[in-house]
Order: sequence, then structure tokens, then C-alpha cells
Amino acid sequence: MFGPKFQRKYALSDQGIAATKKGTLWTVIVNLLMMVGMGILYFLMMGLMKTLVDGEVLPNWMIFVGATVVFIVLSIITHYQQYYATYGLVYEEVKTMRLGLAERLRKLPLGFFGKRDLADLTETVMGDVNRMEHVWSHVLGYLYGGYISTAIIAVMLLAMDWRLAIACLWGVPVAFALLFGSRRLSARSAEKAKATSLAVADGMQEALENIREIHATNQEQRFLGELNDKIDALERAKIGAELVAGLFVNGASVIMRLGVATTILVGASLILSGRIDFMLLFMFLLVITRIYAPFDQSLALIAEVFMSEVSAKRLMEIYDTPAAEGAEEFKPTGHDIVFKDVGFAYDDEQVLRGVSFVAKEGEVTALVGPSGSGKSTCARLAARLWDVSQGSIEVGGVDITSVDPEALLGDYSMVFQNVTLFDDTVMENIRLGKHGATDEEVRAAAAAANCDEFVEKLPAGYNTPIGENGARLSGGERQRISIARALLKDAPIVLLDEATASLDVENETKVQSALSRLLAGKTVLIIAHRMRTVENADKIVVLSEGKVIEEGAPSELLANEDGVFTRMHALQSASAGWSV
Ligand code: ADP
Repeated sequence: MFGPKFQRKYALSDQGIAATKKGTLWTVIVNLLMMVGMGILYFLMMGLMKTLVDGEVLPNWMIFVGATVVFIVLSIITHYQQYYATYGLVYEEVKTMRLGLAERLRKLPLGFFGKRDLADLTETVMGDVNRMEHVWSHVLGYLYGGYISTAIIAVMLLAMDWRLAIACLWGVPVAFALLFGSRRLSARSAEKAKATSLAVADGMQEALENIREIHATNQEQRFLGELNDKIDALERAKIGAELVAGLFVNGASVIMRLGVATTILVGASLILSGRIDFMLLFMFLLVITRIYAPFDQSLALIAEVFMSEVSAKRLMEIYDTPAAEGAEEFKPTGHDIVFKDVGFAYDDEQVLRGVSFVAKEGEVTALVGPSGSGKSTCARLAARLWDVSQGSIEVGGVDITSVDPEALLGDYSMVFQNVTLFDDTVMENIRLGKHGATDEEVRAAAAAANCDEFVEKLPAGYNTPIGENGARLSGGERQRISIARALLKDAPIVLLDEATASLDVENETKVQSALSRLLAGKTVLIIAHRMRTVENADKIVVLSEGKVIEEGAPSELLANEDGVFTRMHALQSASAGWSV
């Protein structure tokens, strides 16, 4: 019952499975103990009847009092155990789950994050885990405990009198059949509710992220209108899902309760024909009040289980995505980056086709080509932010897919277009480059990256907080901080997206001189946009539609008058002379 399939279905860890088993066991014990309570009541009634009929005082009343006391004590103990097993243990499980998810997300290849956006992932870590938490704590133990104890009690009832037992229990399978029959409908409405709730989360996030643009362009009304529509859709979908679940759950509960009526009818006719005595019917009627209770609970719970399946599936999807793993040690010989027949697709569309080139240590290799030709993709693959789908990339003779991404990235500095800055001081933002660097080291790197001049103007110098994602800094300043980080790290490989187009001339020169310090002696792979950088590169790789179409030193390529690079060079040189 609690095998691997069960574990997957409810997205449980090993520890969670153990907790569920315990919870189930204690639920069975509690349910059976409640039946014992009914037994005590039954015998008490028998004794009282005897007193009424024969006029004797209840002969063994001491036993009843004793039994009742024992029953109460036991029921307190077992209820406590059940409570602890279902709730206490589950909260441990939720902690494990959240930490596990975070750890897992850290190791997932970036490609995964392209498929699931931020709002979606947040919803999984918070929402889906919450939903599962409720299922683990309030549902599984009760549900499966209910199944097992009812099966035991049903066997006992059948042994006592099969006719009454059938009259009392026929509704149970019918009720469950009805619920399972409605399963697909429930799952579909739950999925729809989920999709609409994601749309609302997305809409909110989008609105918050773009609040400035929305204000600036007077789009509040349109945006709020759209958000309103999404919230309305969510409301409708939620009500629909609840309605479907409620309809079937209550329907099933009513059907099950028809068992009381049939038991009375069958019992009455059996008594009339003299085949059973009244006390047996009385006992069945007592049991009935108890036997439906766990089932009633189960019926409501089953609906929740159906709804939770969507959440469990989304959680398992994260666990099922293969993590980017590899050896913890990265010991390359030298740092040449070698692309061998690399093919890659983000989704179905092939972005790189058979790309081969070498970026040598101590040289600057420039990737050039029209926008969308795959330059950034090559740089990302070189750092194993994604894994190649064909061919291989080696660094110093080591295939990078065999190295743990964290170990690998220790040898890389990346200065990309989108510099991520944290809401902390300038000092701490640069220190990110090298864990445990001293203030002096940070200052030296910052000075080399030409940060001094703008940092000195900040109110508290290097100790000035820079606002969320560096809101207080200009593009050029942000980039210099990121170069300072890279200088501090002093990694042997530098990947650089030279998007300096947005900088003014003064800034650009400063960034350039900072860069030349960073790049000396490294393996440099640069996504080049400007001809000046390209001319100074040691090697140029021209990409077009994901293929290498030309490759060589700038002078070699320029020597070919019909070459693509020669044409690009001519075009850019011409545009450089334009002015407005
Ligand atoms: P370049 O840097 O030369 O402009 P890219 O490597 O960024 O080119 O992009 C190459 C192709 O891959 C483009 O068609 C682009 O739309 C696509 N692409 C880039 N990044 C992604 C991504 N994260 N998911 C899906 N497609 C992408």
C-alpha cells in the first residue's frame, strides 16, 4: 500500500512515508478503540435492559465503571499519539520538502527556469507545498486509517450477521464508486483553478515589476482591468471546483447514510420473522453511527486528494528534472575552451548547429554575428549554464558536463549585460566576487575597475547601500562593479558580453581600461559588438544562424574581400562616421 508509487503520488520523502505509516496505524487504533467504546455502551444497555426486565440491580456495574475509565485513558493516549504522528511528524516533512526543493532548484540547469517562470516556481515552493502539507497532515493518515479500520470492522460485522452487515454497508462502495467516477471532472476543475490562480500571480508580479512604466504610459486602467478579469476568472474557476467537489462528496455521503434506513428495514423484518433479536439490531445501529464517521471524513478528504494531485505532479516535476551534476573537483590542464561540433536547442528550435572552435588561453576570442546568431548561447554553454545537446565542450581537456557546475564556475568570471546587484553596500556587492576577501582587496579591485571616482561621490563611499538591484547606479557604474567583482575573483576564464553601447563616451573609456586589466593573460570569450574590440581580438569567430561561417585572426578575415566579416567591418566603419 505504501510503496514507491504511493510515495510519488503524494510527493513524499522517505521520512514522510514513515510518518504516514505511523499516522495510519494510530488512526486504525483510534477507530477500533472507538468501536470498543460502542461495545461497552452495548453491554451497558444489555445490563440496563436486564435490570428493567428482571428488576435486579446491575450485577457487575463495577466492571463497567472500570472499563469506562480504562477506555477514556486509552482514548486520550491514542488520540495524542495519532495527533503527534499526523501533525508533528508532518511539519518536519514540510521543512524537509522546502529545503530539499530549494537545494534542488539551485542545482537545476537554467533551461528549467525558462520553462517555469518566477511566479510559477514561487507558487510551487509556497502554494503547492502548503497544499501537500494539508494533505499529508489532515488527509493521508485519516484516509488510509479509515480504509483499514473499516475493512476490519466490516469483516467483524459480516461474521456477526451478514444480512445486517450488507444492509448497513452497501452504501460505502457505491459512494466511493461515485467519487472515483467524478475524479476526472474534479481533477480537471482543480487544474483549471490552478491555471487561473497562476495567471493572477503572474499579472500581479508583472504589474509590480512594471509599475513605473505603467504609470509613465498612463496604462493603469487597462492594467487594472486586465487584472480584474483574471481575478474574476479565478473566482469562477474556484467556485466551479468547489461546486463539483461539494456536489459529489455530499451526494456520496447521502448515499452512504441510506444504509441506516436499510439496516432498520432489514433488521425490523428479521426481528419480525424471529431470526434475530432486538439487541443485535441495536448493536448494528450503534456501530453504524461510528462506522460512517471515518468514511464521512474520508469522502471529504478524497476530494482534497484529487485536487492535490495537481500540486504533487508539479512538485515531482521539479524532482524529476535531472540536475546538472558532476565531479566536485575541476582540474583542467590549461584553460583552452574547445567547442567540438556543438549542437543546441532551447526548445525545439535548433539554435546552434555543429559549432567548432577553440578559444585559447591568453587570447581574446571574439564572437561576432548578427543578433540571434547564437553568440550569447555559445557563452552560456561554455559556462555550463545549459548543457549541450550534441557534441561537447572541453576546458583544459576536461569535458565540462563531467564537472559540477559550482566547481566549474569557480574558474569563470562573467561580465554579462544584466549585472545582478544585491540590496547591500558597494563593498559587499564587489566582495561577492571572492568569498572572504579583505576590505583592502575589494578596494584594490574596485580601483582597478575605475569604481573609485563614482563611489567617492556616494554619501558613505564604499559603505553606501545601492538600493534594490542597484537602483541608484547608472548602467556604466553597474558594469564597473561587475568588472570589479571579476577582477577580485581573478578567475582564469572570462566571459564577457560587451554591451557597452548604452554607455556615454567617458564611461566607455573607463570601462574599457578596467576591462583591459581584467582580461590580461586569461582565456577570454567575448560577445563583441564594436569593431574596435573586434580588431584587437586575437581571433574572431563569425556566427550566422547557429553556424560558424568564418574564423581566424582579424587581419586574415579582412584579407578576404568577399568575406562576411569584411562586409560587417565596412558597414560599421561607415556608420561610425555618421552623426546627427
Ligand atoms: P545572439 O547572442 O547572437 O544575439 P542568442 O544566442 O541570444 O543570439 O540567441 C540565439 C537564438 O536563441 C535566438 O533565436 C533566440 O531567440 C534564441 N534564444 C536565446 N535565449 C533563449 C532562451 N532562453 N529560450 C529560448 N530561446 C532562446
